[in-house]
Amino acid sequence: MSDPSLFELAIPAWMVVALATMAVLFFVTAPYGRHSRPGWGPSLPAWLGWMVMEAASPLAFSLFLLPGNDHLTLPVLAFWVLWMVHYVNRAFVYPLRMADNRRPMAISVAGMAVFFNFVNGYINGHYLRLFGEGYTSGWFVDPRFIAGLLLFAAGMRINTHSDAVLRDLRANGSGEYRIPRGGLFSRVSCPNYFGEIVEWFGWACLTWSLAGLAFAIWTAANLIPRAVAHHRWYRRRFSDYPYNRRAVIPYLL
Ligand code: NDP
Repeated sequence: MSDPSLFELAIPAWMVVALATMAVLFFVTAPYGRHSRPGWGPSLPAWLGWMVMEAASPLAFSLFLLPGNDHLTLPVLAFWVLWMVHYVNRAFVYPLRMADNRRPMAISVAGMAVFFNFVNGYINGHYLRLFGEGYTSGWFVDPRFIAGLLLFAAGMRINTHSDAVLRDLRANGSGEYRIPRGGLFSRVSCPNYFGEIVEWFGWACLTWSLAGLAFAIWTAANLIPRAVAHHRWYRRRFSDYPYNRRAVIPYLL
């Protein structure tokens, strides 16, 4: 979409789609991991599914931002680096390290995630291509950049630490589910999701962009209903599940 004003109009529409999707996800939990169920077609190993679906995002982001772009500024390059740091972990390190990474994942689920990730990568890459010149080097000392970067880093730390706690629960190769403990698990059932949501709201703040906000809203739209489903599942599964834990947002939800 080369017309900037049309593109800026399309982003709020994409946010509305996110909110509608969120409403649906409260009733239909995405069928992977503990919520897997038959009826979603053929599958592929989880590690491959994660690689394919998550690689779509850095690919689209780079493809729409970089080639032939003579107006790349230093802050935009810094944004690119942050996006890549997150996605190198999510698309390549995470799938290879996850326990039980040969468990099946429905190709239909991975396909939907490829679409979601590609569109969000496109929107953010294209936005920065259209409007990136506005970020001069002074942006590095702008309070919005500094606050957003701190949020992004804190969110990523919470996310990767929580992913590691979950991975350790399967270190014995049993493939069982256990009650996770430590870190923010003392407050919520899904601190990995909480960290991811904080991270992308940090991104929205550090880029101060509608595109960034759209992706943060999509992340929350995907992960909040899933966290609520996980939380209910934990309570049903473990009679000794800590009663004071929330689902995803400490003290709130
Ligand atoms: P989950 O928390 O459902 O699972 C993460 C891994 O830990 C899986 O391998 C899972 O196994 C295992 N696991 C989870 N709970 C337990 C437990 N109690 N005992 C033992 N093992 C457990 O996360 P997701 O798979 O949904 O997501 C993985 C990462 O991807 C997260 O960091 C998330 O933030 C991110 N993500 C981001 C999205 C976005 O919109 N930006 C969308 C989806 C995910 P199993 O698979 O067998 O359940």
